[in-house]
Amino acid sequence: MSIAIIGSGFSGLGAAIRLDEAGHRDFLVFERGNDVGGTWRDNTYPGAACDVPSHLYSYSFALNPDWTRSFSAQPEIEDYLRGVAQRANVLDRHVFGCEVRRTAWNPEKSHWELATAKGGYTADILIAGFGSLAEPSLPAIPGIESFAAAGGDLFHSAQWNHDTDLAGKRVAVIGTGASAIQIVPAIVDRVTHLGVYQRTAPWLLPRFDRAFTAPERWAFRNVPGYLRLARAGIYAGRETQVVGLAKNPNLMKGFELLSRAKIRREIKDPELRRRVTPNFRIGCKRMLISNDWYPALDRDHVDLITDGIQEIDGRRIVTADGTVREVDALVVATGFHVTDSPMFDTVCGADGASLTQKFADKGMRAYKGTTIAGYPNMFVLVGPNTGLGHSSMVYMIESQINYVVDAVTTMRRRGLRTVEVKQHALDSYNDRLQKALDGSVWMNGKCASWYLDAHGNNTTLWPDFTFRFRRQTRRFDIDAYETAPA
Ligand code: NAP
Repeated sequence: MSIAIIGSGFSGLGAAIRLDEAGHRDFLVFERGNDVGGTWRDNTYPGAACDVPSHLYSYSFALNPDWTRSFSAQPEIEDYLRGVAQRANVLDRHVFGCEVRRTAWNPEKSHWELATAKGGYTADILIAGFGSLAEPSLPAIPGIESFAAAGGDLFHSAQWNHDTDLAGKRVAVIGTGASAIQIVPAIVDRVTHLGVYQRTAPWLLPRFDRAFTAPERWAFRNVPGYLRLARAGIYAGRETQVVGLAKNPNLMKGFELLSRAKIRREIKDPELRRRVTPNFRIGCKRMLISNDWYPALDRDHVDLITDGIQEIDGRRIVTADGTVREVDALVVATGFHVTDSPMFDTVCGADGASLTQKFADKGMRAYKGTTIAGYPNMFVLVGPNTGLGHSSMVYMIESQINYVVDAVTTMRRRGLRTVEVKQHALDSYNDRLQKALDGSVWMNGKCASWYLDAHGNNTTLWPDFTFRFRRQTRRFDIDAYETAPA
């Protein structure tokens, strides 16, 4: 094996397909789950759906005229990925149920050594497609471990326990992020009582979701160029948001007015309106889209609880104001380890340092979001500062894949054993990035978000138009790399 790919979500699977197409067929994909799909295989919570329109949230090389809705639900995206993998004939080079436990560069042998659940492997090139929203983050609430011990059902949104029947139960949901706002409306009719624990109110915009009509779907399939045109329209519309988010946050005012009007329209109770109104600038945290979140909060058997959770004592949740609420099931929709992924502990570079150690001083940094000095022949997909809050991650992933495929092609054409990004190229790239982020709403919008790391740096988001990222990753720029011949 020459190329090892970790993970088979949108990024790892996409890399496998594109490498295969380019004639680089000597890869293995290590996937800890039992199927492809990544986050879209794992997040099966009720109401799970995408916030980016389906025709943009799909591979450009595998457009899907058959999407049933403008915003796809999780099962349809999972099916899509499975279908794409089957048609591309890459499943024969997948090793499922195979967690990669440790990966280390061997400087003497100039290769990567992988310790996996199914034994040891070596690879010349490592493609890390383990994703950034893959490791659930559990809240460190004192006593939380006593909840399950007292017979309560507790699970993270990304690890939904479908054996638990919530019907007739008193349920608590912690968190009001993208996952929670989909879960709450989806379970509200089933439960006896729902307590929603909000730390920070999110900004919400309307969700323009609808089923495609039969003639539309016929046209997507049969009218030449129609599908691409629809996709381009969605792309362009989304891209305009960058101007407000990254360059001039004052331009986000219109979104804020829309969001305030939505609160007034969808909630009757003035006190509830006050508590759902965010206290930071719109866009600073991911803007959420929903038409049924506020109406769900306004229901009689739903309480929005804004006092912080002080402790959990068996089945009782105690908030800072001293109120005790007993519940039967607790859903923690508290997000993921993004800038502190436990996967970083498992990847060790030329000097033996793990990515966690490497990122300790300045946070996550990579060249073009993809390569890291000290980690030769390694390419990270969905790497540092490649994330988006407003458009399709699949577009960014495909840009990175272009870069990686061209890197592999270049290495093989030139007979190179190793490529390693030069430290100064990485440093100046990141200096430019951080400067570009200075004026963004993510840095100035007065919120705490998972976009920022422990140092207060934004090491997750791309601060510019996405076509600029596409342009800079079109070709592998070998001049930025130290190389060694085979
Ligand atoms: P998230 O956006 O990180 O939200 C986590 C929520 O939990 C926040 O409301 C947070 O409050 C709260 N929280 C975290 N720790 C807490 C604690 N100790 N005590 C109380 N509350 C706590 O996570 P997510 O909703 O799973 O979404 C993560 C990302 O996944 C999204 O931003 C998006 O990129 C993606 N996603 C997309 C979709 C979609 O396309 N529809 C759906 C789901 C997820 P604070 O705000 O105060 O931190």
